Amino acid sequence: MKIRCAICGRVTLFPAVMLGAEPVGPTCARRFGLLKLKGRSGSRITSGLRRARRPDPQTLDLFMEAA
Ligand SMILES: [Zn+2]
Repeated sequence: MKIRCAICGRVTLFPAVMLGAEPVGPTCARRFGLLKLKGRSGSRITSGLRRARRPDPQTLDLFMEAA
C-alpha cells in the first residue's frame, strides 16, 4: 500500500502531517504552512508519523529481559 499526499497526489514515504485521516507530504505541508498548525488545540492537523511511534509492548518486554 502506497501513501499518497492528499494535496498533490504524489506518493509520499514519510507524511509530515495528517490532515484529518489524509496524509500530507513534507513539501506540501511546508508550502501550505501546515507544520505551523500542527499540534494546535482543536486542529485536525496532527503529526504524520504518530502511529509509527506508538510503542510496541512486545518490543518493550524484549528490552526489559535483555537489561
Ligand atoms: Zn503533496
